[in-house]
Amino acid sequence: MVWDVSFTCDICGRKKLESNHWWMLVLGDVPCFEEGQPRQRFTLMPWNKTESGNTQFYHLCGQGCAMQAMERFMNHGTIVSDRLPQGAEAAVSNRV
Ligand SMILES: [Zn+2]
Repeated sequence: MVWDVSFTCDICGRKKLESNHWWMLVLGDVPCFEEGQPRQRFTLMPWNKTESGNTQFYHLCGQGCAMQAMERFMNHGTIVSDRLPQGAEAAVSNRV
């Protein structure tokens, strides 16, 4: 059995195993946005070994954590509380 321990879920901290159905998440810039709206978009994509090492990407262990990540993004403009993605702070502080 091959253990890929180099990845952990950014939501629940679970280690990635060969059999897991993982997803990748990246926050990107929004080309246009209304005043006071978040300036980022939430992009979920299937796991890709080549791109999985990209430091911009979050790693999610499954649907449950993907849903939780989206909830955090929509409510707080960030995915994990202790790792604010670039621009998230501005997006949050701009809210009235
Ligand atoms: Zn997870």
